[in-house]
Amino acid sequence: MAEVRTHCPYCALQCGTVLGGEAGRTVVRPDEEFPVNQGGLCQKGWTAPALLGTPDRLTRPLVRGADGRLAPSTWEAALDMIAARLGDIRAEHGPDAVGVFGGGGLTNEKAYQLGKFARVALGTSQIDYNGRFCMSSAAAAGTAAFGLDRGLPFPVTDLGGAEVILLAGANPAETMPPLMRHLNKARLIVIDPRRTPTAEAAALHLQPAPGTDLALALGLLHLAVVEGHADQPFLNERTTGFDAAWRRAAAWWPERVERVTGVPVAEQREAVRMLAAARRAYVLTGRGAEQHSKGTDTVSAFINLALTLGLPGRQGSGYGCLTGQGNGQGGREHGQKADQLPGYRMLTDPAARAHVAAVWGVEPEDLPGPGRSAYELLDALGTDGGPRALLVFGSNPAVSAPHAARIGDRLASLDLLVVADFVPSETALLADVVLPVTQWAEEEGTMTNLEGRVLRRRRLLTPPGEARSDLEVLHGLAVRLGRPAAQFPTEPREVFEELRRASRGGRADYSGISYERLDAGEALYWPCPEAPGGQAGPGGPAGPGGEDPAGEERAPHPGTPRLFLDAFAHPDGLARFAEVEHRDSAETPDADFPLYATTGRVLAQYQSGAQTRRIPELHAAAPEMFVEVHPDTAGRHGLVEGAAARVSSARGSTVARVRLVGTLRTDTVFLPFHFAGAGRANLITSPALDPRSKMPEFKVCAVRIGPVAGRPAEPAAEPLTEPLAEPLIGARP
Ligand code: SF4
Repeated sequence: MAEVRTHCPYCALQCGTVLGGEAGRTVVRPDEEFPVNQGGLCQKGWTAPALLGTPDRLTRPLVRGADGRLAPSTWEAALDMIAARLGDIRAEHGPDAVGVFGGGGLTNEKAYQLGKFARVALGTSQIDYNGRFCMSSAAAAGTAAFGLDRGLPFPVTDLGGAEVILLAGANPAETMPPLMRHLNKARLIVIDPRRTPTAEAAALHLQPAPGTDLALALGLLHLAVVEGHADQPFLNERTTGFDAAWRRAAAWWPERVERVTGVPVAEQREAVRMLAAARRAYVLTGRGAEQHSKGTDTVSAFINLALTLGLPGRQGSGYGCLTGQGNGQGGREHGQKADQLPGYRMLTDPAARAHVAAVWGVEPEDLPGPGRSAYELLDALGTDGGPRALLVFGSNPAVSAPHAARIGDRLASLDLLVVADFVPSETALLADVVLPVTQWAEEEGTMTNLEGRVLRRRRLLTPPGEARSDLEVLHGLAVRLGRPAAQFPTEPREVFEELRRASRGGRADYSGISYERLDAGEALYWPCPEAPGGQAGPGGPAGPGGEDPAGEERAPHPGTPRLFLDAFAHPDGLARFAEVEHRDSAETPDADFPLYATTGRVLAQYQSGAQTRRIPELHAAAPEMFVEVHPDTAGRHGLVEGAAARVSSARGSTVARVRLVGTLRTDTVFLPFHFAGAGRANLITSPALDPRSKMPEFKVCAVRIGPVAGRPAEPAAEPLTEPLAEPLIGARP
């Protein structure tokens, strides 16, 4: 039986797997040698092969006809039609009338090629991706503090040596269970409005009101200083800006923090004392800290705490962000983000433009400038001055975007919507053209996990039917748009070689990484310059490497498992404190909408659910939308366990089955965001954006809850929401 070593298709942990068998009976087992998962997989990883044979797998291009129905077509006809329509739209409205929406699950090669395609073949500035919804606040805060954004600036295995770990807004026991093998060795402090399975495993659970994490982080910094735990030598030698940050935190004395957050003073004090007493400690943030209109400041406040305690840049301690999507790290480094070019270069930097333009064979002035961020792009679709056409790769914004009903309307208003996917996602169902593409076990490429380690995705299976790789799709469109065929190669290895050149000398320098080195089993973390032994990072050597001046072979650069041990990545080597202040969320409860709603993930589903809702075992475990409600709150609003509830915000409402949870705050309800149709959590979520990261405020909105009109207040017998979208070949909704 053929076998390949590859990685799970889902989250940023990228658990190592061994895949064997053939189409229809593919089997997976954990790769015991991969240190991140140490022989473990979660339920999603174990069941991932089922996705390869899902009955509604897309295998032929589909084009919507004059009757409004999607019908099978040929690749030639579909690509010809797309190129002709794009040409017309660009001629009439200009290049920015075409938008591109990518995904944090795309391989590095696809993410790179998508950014190049948008800027070179389409000439549009209007490209962004769904990673904006997941990691952008931590990226902005990490870049500001350390001069470089890599989710974990150390290997995951380092966490196993910690005595105490503070997790702010992260629930890895459900979202990435094998990570708990490393975390469980430490005493955990969990900050979360819900008593999640991770909070259950913690030594201390702080349960703030949604949207108040920033006040709590300021309060923890306050206590760290007044109780004498600030690491003064570290502050003096390795940081700058403490005084300004402290002026803000000084006003957040514990009793004030308790009033705002609801976290008792004694628990605040206990958390700080635990962290300060540990010889090795980490502060880790997740989406719970990030997905706010003040998410960047909230993450910055937790980084301020970590810096005050002297944790970052020290082996065995540190700060990190638990990146979410499978290639959430690599996906934000190679140019599918509205403001970035490959190698984590900024689109506004003339030197970066010149370098990348030279690799792409175009003039720097031909590269468009920065475009709209993800929600802004989706919100502008079909409006005056907004894109008239959108190409979607590896994303399902009809479910995953906030204020989803509005985004559904915007998608439906387009002159042309093209979706490349391997299953008929809810967004694909709205499309004019659906292009069937390969999935994980059918393709080669690289992914970059939450540690910044570059991993090989390997092919076991031949793609079914007429499915093509995304690289082939981009090639086919680029050629039809008048670009030379050689400018858009279809082989992942060839694209990666170009990515190496484009990233050379950038912050995320991959120039020293090759398929050959990865296939030989090397563990390579970026930055990994091509110059042997060169200093990594901005301004580092960018020469061809491989030989010293005497012409002798030298060992290649080993990559950088641990960043910042000698210096942070700012030019002066110092970490920056951020001067941040607490403020309310965009919405707080009032008489009409008296409760907080917060959203998140469950163990058996992943992101918009387009993949995991199709897997019978996962569907059985998490079949439909639910809402967690405290029993007292449910009683006040006429709800019982199992009843159908309507949860409404100022933007709309969703229908969910009631689950009574005695550990939940009485002012808060929780909804998972994996479900479609009338059960979409994002029908109610707020599109308020963080001003710096442009991340939407998924974690807080104001809602009311009650029985669904016309239904008795008793457990509902029938399923409330369909697991999958409607049949594919049908009229446009
Ligand atoms: Fe590992 Fe994440 Fe896949 Fe689960 S979903 S097996 S934690 S990579």
